[in-house]
Amino acid sequence: MSVDTTHDPALQSWVPSANEAATDFPIQNLPYGRFRQSGSGQAWRIGVAIGDQVLDLQQARAAVPWPDDVAALLQPLAQGDLNAFMGRSVAERRRLRAALSQVLAQGSGARAALSACLCPQAQTEMAVPCAIADYTDFYTGIHHATAVGKLFRPDNPLLPNYKWVPIGYHGRASSIVVSGQPIRRPRGQLKGAADAPVVGPTQRLDFELELGFLIGPGNALGEPIAMDQAEAHLFGVTLFNDWSARDIQPWEYQPLGPFLAKNFASTVSPWVVTMEALAPFRAPFTRPEGDPAPLPYLDSEANRSQGALDIRLEVWLQTAAMRAAGHPGVRLSRSGTLEAAYWTPAQLVAHHTVSGCNLQPGDLFGSGTLSGPRPEQAGSLLELSSAGKHPVALPHGEQRSFLADGDTLTLTGWCERPGARRIGLGACSGTVVAAPG
Ligand code: MN
Repeated sequence: MSVDTTHDPALQSWVPSANEAATDFPIQNLPYGRFRQSGSGQAWRIGVAIGDQVLDLQQARAAVPWPDDVAALLQPLAQGDLNAFMGRSVAERRRLRAALSQVLAQGSGARAALSACLCPQAQTEMAVPCAIADYTDFYTGIHHATAVGKLFRPDNPLLPNYKWVPIGYHGRASSIVVSGQPIRRPRGQLKGAADAPVVGPTQRLDFELELGFLIGPGNALGEPIAMDQAEAHLFGVTLFNDWSARDIQPWEYQPLGPFLAKNFASTVSPWVVTMEALAPFRAPFTRPEGDPAPLPYLDSEANRSQGALDIRLEVWLQTAAMRAAGHPGVRLSRSGTLEAAYWTPAQLVAHHTVSGCNLQPGDLFGSGTLSGPRPEQAGSLLELSSAGKHPVALPHGEQRSFLADGDTLTLTGWCERPGARRIGLGACSGTVVAAPG
């Protein structure tokens, strides 16, 4: 979690767009993604975002004489395999980050050779950033858990296990798609007031504002990851929209938890911001006065002092009518991890593996819906519209209780602090299309 010369806010790149104040991808960020030239049909390549460009690591490996250890680290990346690199140690990840920072910095002798290895992001298409074999969704947003609980249990919104055990369920990895892919409205069993349910398109399609935590090195089956080691098993962070069908969910979820209400699609942002890049944006893990202290296997000195992440989050909606009118969309919500998350990423790793469950490089953890404490900080329409009772008013007389076909929902996120260069997570976007006929 240490800050080094790669985080120096004064550091500038020879890629001019990386030095613009508003860019998500200054030289202090250096996130990884899987890309190819739009329409080329080529195999996916691994790239690093820098300003509005992508550094192609296949080309870059061949273009300059790297030190031997860096060339070895670039080998799997040049072959398009991010997972193999994700499994490397923190020291190795930091080594490559330092090398990439050096060659992309203003004044680098590699500029001429590497200029030919840049591809404008506007001319690329992106894939899910790595192979995701397994996906687990947690429920770390305590204000979301409380608000949703209140809809069903006004007197006792938060279940008694919440402050002791990081709640989660095993999700579906095969339907995780990258930002920009259309989201087909799912069908399922809907139970209204009538005795029997009907099958049909969901009438309550919702988003969930989440972060995705991607796992780095895995662990052997039967060998838990202790808190002191948990950070080393985290590779990086994405934005994550865990689309949900709020009318399928209540009928199906007891007694085994979410199923078809969640398995039809989840959207991940294309750029993985590494834990190394996030080093300047760590914060103490704290609990409100009177809340129980975490059990020892969920506690460590490092977690108490800097286990939390400080990431700002926003949700934007552009309806089909807005798009037709050239309207860029409206902000539905703004939230942040510091207020929203009750558990840290390291605690999720320690908890997930305390049973002996094995993690693998590229596994994805969803944070759970990251709603802040105030109503306008809610990370789902279920909360923003009070389960449809108070539709959200939009410009030009439109309103939404839940998502309509043609709606484009976009999550954004960034980190900013005095003394650090602002970095961003890019965008996580999806447009709803009609259910199959
Ligand atoms: Mn979720």
